[in-house]
Amino acid sequence: MIPGRWHQIAAASNLLGPDGDLAPTIFAEMSALAVRTGAINLGQGFPDSDGPEAVLAGAVSAIRGGGNQYPPGRGMPELRAAVAAHQKRFYGLEVDPETEVLVTAGATEAIAATVMALCEPGDEVVTFEPYYDAYAAVIEMAGARRRTVPLRFPDFTPDPAALAAAFGPRTRLVLVNSPHNPTGRVLGSAELEAVARLAMDHDAIVVTDEVYEHLTFDGRAHIPLATLPGMAERTVTISSGGKTFSVTGWKVGWLHARRDLVDAITTVQQFLTYVNAGPFQPAVAAGLDLPGEFFLGVAGTLQAGRDLLVEGLQAAGFGVRVPEGTYFIVADAAPLGYHDGLALCRDLPRLAGVVAVPMRVFYDDQDAGRSLVRFACCKRPEVLREAADRLGALRR
Ligand code: PMP
Ligand code: GLN
Repeated sequence: MIPGRWHQIAAASNLLGPDGDLAPTIFAEMSALAVRTGAINLGQGFPDSDGPEAVLAGAVSAIRGGGNQYPPGRGMPELRAAVAAHQKRFYGLEVDPETEVLVTAGATEAIAATVMALCEPGDEVVTFEPYYDAYAAVIEMAGARRRTVPLRFPDFTPDPAALAAAFGPRTRLVLVNSPHNPTGRVLGSAELEAVARLAMDHDAIVVTDEVYEHLTFDGRAHIPLATLPGMAERTVTISSGGKTFSVTGWKVGWLHARRDLVDAITTVQQFLTYVNAGPFQPAVAAGLDLPGEFFLGVAGTLQAGRDLLVEGLQAAGFGVRVPEGTYFIVADAAPLGYHDGLALCRDLPRLAGVVAVPMRVFYDDQDAGRSLVRFACCKRPEVLREAADRLGALRR
């Protein structure tokens, strides 16, 4: 039995087991199921091939070259400079690498430290639902409350009235993830403008989770909220190297914001990890400096994977929402007669030799995502083809 307040935190993030014990996250549960059954793991979002040679070689040479001790508290100067240069190159944002950038242990720590630093108990955090699981937990840890705006299958477009209704006098932060896990939505300028206007009207800070910033499809552009008029001042922009460079285990993340906000967040962050991933920091800096073709190439390869799997899921009889970005495709199992995605995911290795993740765990309103399942398309084409073929068994 988990004691006291932690019980509430586990409950907020759907991690209470049947006896009140801590249950594994859905990603851990489904990855373990894949290992146990030998099924193809399209659950947890991680690629099955390595990232660019320059990035891998950068880490090897940093380790061999003695870069194995604590890096500076705010991150290695070359990584902070590379983050600032990347934001200028891709989005025209002016960021001071000395005072406006903080390197973190993945985007996860950046989000946690930001919410803890900027929220008082009782403050409200507006976010879209479904949401990445860590959001609910960290909002709860900060003693804040989440106010969610539903995104519903199949278009996953926020209703402007519901968005406005989520804001109130206690709104402190708006936590926006685009490209969005798990829906695969990439928010367009009108949607981002609506968020910006409400944030200004309520004097809220916007926190953006942009870890899939380079993984957009069909030529769709990712627009950082900080580029909207007046928003650089009130936005904490968060990203990480895990997805872009296919190194999800390295956990090199960063944020940038106004200097006083970065100072406040650093106050928390320096007592969470202080620093991390010393030799991986210069390697990620080298990645951020790669030419434009690299970034287009990553998106193109992933888009080809998306197309393969979308086609396979449609052929297998799922209702499919074609994602605009990210590693993920959301499919509705109801047309196949499966109305509970969680039960289906637990049975999917037996039924089809594939593992996926049920969407309902990302919703507060579990009915909204009941028959939906999330599949990861960040795998080699032969793996996706085999998975698609196996999923065909559901229809036969
Ligand atoms: N945010 C979202 C939306 C994610 O999907 C992930 C996935 N890992 C993270 C944050 C965490 O990023 P990191 O591994 O850099 O902590
Ligand atoms: N971001 C990954 C996903 O959504 C999982 C990361 C994790 O296991 N916490 O699949």
